[in-house]
Amino acid sequence: MKIISSPLELKEHLKNIKLSVGFVPTMGALHEGHISLIKKAKEQNEMVVVSIFLNPTQFLKGEDLEKYPKKDEADKKICSLSGVDVLFFPQTSDMYGVDEVSILAPKVRGYVLEGQSRPGHFNGVLTVVMKLLNIVNPTRAYFGKKDAQQLNLISLMVKQLFMSVEIVPVDTVREKDGLALSSRNIYLNKDERVEALKVASSLRAASAMVSKGILNSHEIADSMREVLAPLEIFYVEILDREFNPLLHVEIGNTVILVEVNVGTTRLLDNIWL
Ligand code: AMP
Repeated sequence: MKIISSPLELKEHLKNIKLSVGFVPTMGALHEGHISLIKKAKEQNEMVVVSIFLNPTQFLKGEDLEKYPKKDEADKKICSLSGVDVLFFPQTSDMYGVDEVSILAPKVRGYVLEGQSRPGHFNGVLTVVMKLLNIVNPTRAYFGKKDAQQLNLISLMVKQLFMSVEIVPVDTVREKDGLALSSRNIYLNKDERVEALKVASSLRAASAMVSKGILNSHEIADSMREVLAPLEIFYVEILDREFNPLLHVEIGNTVILVEVNVGTTRLLDNIWL
């Protein structure tokens, strides 16, 4: 596996490669969720590039940028063992200069749900993803359904800016007890880890209601809030796959999203029905 930190060196390295390239952008502290993205990229492409970059522009003031878990050596091993061809590992100064051009998230869809409690977060996400896609110029890029709003906005950017990359959504990987894997789970203490299970339980409860034919969004959201109590809830939303509100669940076209605080750790999760 080749490790490259300079964007221009990576562009040069990939310039004459005629193979299909699968790209997996991450912020490091890799877990089985990231590995499933890498596996999918390997299945569908002749070459796989992974990036590890803790992007400062998507963190708001006071968020966890400084304490975000860093596992550089373990991450390199995981990538190498997973058959990654090139690991892109830039420093902030490799990615950003002064007085930068940036991409702005859409004014409505970028400022609801996670964007409401983290205003400007998605500007940083879209800017860095645009930079990374321009550096790697992949055939396909892989994003987790776990970050459903991020996936939605990136797909929107690619469509609206007429970019040629194919965005491939990947299912959420969970612990055996249902907790969605996240680099932030290590912030949870023992009691919070137990409380965090309410997130997956609320989504299972929603899914069970739908299986019984209860499709009314208010009814489902109310039941989910009962399961989540007493956690601080940022939102429980039942939307279609374009992220428009739904009064009734439409099987095959629905995503149910939850974001809560467990202690001081923000957890988000969703199911696609
Ligand atoms: P991050 O390192 O948190 O920026 O995540 C990098 C990519 O991995 C994003 O596309 C995430 O949606 C995806 N991801 C994170 N957690 C999971 C998970 N549990 N299952 C599947 N994909 C995930």
